[in-house]
Amino acid sequence: MSLPVDIKNDVLRLTKEGGIKQIRFLYCDNGGIIRGKSCGWQSLSDRMHGGIGLTVAMQAMNALDELQMIEGVGAVGEVRLTPDPRTFKILPYSPRAAQMLCDMLTLDGMPWELCPRSFLRRIVEQGRSEFGLTILAAFEPEWSLARRGLDGSYTAIDDSLCFSTIGMTTQAAMIDELLGAFEAQNLKVELYHPELGHGQQELSISPARALEAADNQIIYRETVRAVAWNHGLFASFAPKPFINQAGNGNHVHLSAWTGDQGDQNLFYDPSDPYSLSQTGYYFIGGILEHLAALVALTCPSVNSYRRLQPKTWSSAYTCYGPDNREAAVRIASTLKGKESSSINLEIKASDNSNNPYLALGGIIAAGLDGVRRKLHPGEKLKVIVDPATIPEEERLERGIKALPSSLGQALDNLEKDEILLDALGGKLAKTYIAVRRSEEKSYAARTTDYELNSHFYKY
Ligand code: GLU
Ligand code: MG
Repeated sequence: MSLPVDIKNDVLRLTKEGGIKQIRFLYCDNGGIIRGKSCGWQSLSDRMHGGIGLTVAMQAMNALDELQMIEGVGAVGEVRLTPDPRTFKILPYSPRAAQMLCDMLTLDGMPWELCPRSFLRRIVEQGRSEFGLTILAAFEPEWSLARRGLDGSYTAIDDSLCFSTIGMTTQAAMIDELLGAFEAQNLKVELYHPELGHGQQELSISPARALEAADNQIIYRETVRAVAWNHGLFASFAPKPFINQAGNGNHVHLSAWTGDQGDQNLFYDPSDPYSLSQTGYYFIGGILEHLAALVALTCPSVNSYRRLQPKTWSSAYTCYGPDNREAAVRIASTLKGKESSSINLEIKASDNSNNPYLALGGIIAAGLDGVRRKLHPGEKLKVIVDPATIPEEERLERGIKALPSSLGQALDNLEKDEILLDALGGKLAKTYIAVRRSEEKSYAARTTDYELNSHFYKY
């Protein structure tokens, strides 16, 4: 992959002018962990060209740093972490440091088949070449602020109520710094509020093209965690940080536009009662068709399945509905005066323990399958009440299914889902499933307390 010279020169200039000493080359692995290596500023030009060496084994590492034995992904072999200069950010929270997000390239410069960012790129390209679609997406992360005691236990920073101004006041200094840090990195904040759970916050970033949206989710997790740390706090992105409190979702908002410039929102149709076009309905159909397997990518940790329960607004059934916050896919109502640009789908079955490249790539692959096969979800899967209140018999008759109740079940489904396996590619699918299976096995042998504590500060 050759770099556009002008962007590369900009990066080198900004590094020099900013007095930057180290540049982090980051990636997100199969366990959803953000990892990386740094280079010194003097070698940046060479490293942007040739990358930083990474053992292939890192894609066989699980979220407990237990290396899995997977053929071809072990002690022998290297790839190159090669930065995308468009993702260059001077970090507002770490002294004289910058970062770029990376593709994993083979030694001869080709996308490695286990590279998650290249996977998303591939799926985005498929949508463009097959249907002329440009996908816009936004992640909507929730997270919890806590202090850590000397015994390693975590206590929520406050017990403020949902949307409470007390929460706004008690966290004002941290949130203000966070807003500044996002602005410094060109991430546009949409909305912020204290959420339902103790210490829980929600702050959303504007939509972007799919690859940039996934990059933004990495930048977001890094920024929130770091700004909190600088305030002596721990920001948890665990799906269920406290067993008796609301879970942290990371809902995904999607829309599909025409052409490279994104001229027209193809999800918009003013003649539909919810303003959603047929393409939008097909997308829903595809997502619901694959959801039981897709959650292995979007809700991929052991801890995810503590969150994904009925009556918690996290979604627990394969259904959709207009502004229905218990449905797996919500048709979001449009904004006044911005009807055509604001119509979007919200996928609720997603959390921050996912690798955003794999999660978003999986969602888009499922949606495109719906478009390809014209999978209209129909009236039966449309739900305008809390699906948990529908008698089980009726749910079954309508084809509304409960989502998997464990990571193991989700992985079983993924192993049978030809479309998603094919989208991921054989090697990535096999390695991903092996890594996630190993996490399931490790936590099964340990206590609930261990599991909660160990997920608390990982993502
Ligand atoms: N905390 C809920 C979840 O786990 C979401 C609440 C909301 O709708 O914002 O997804
Ligand atoms: Mg929320």
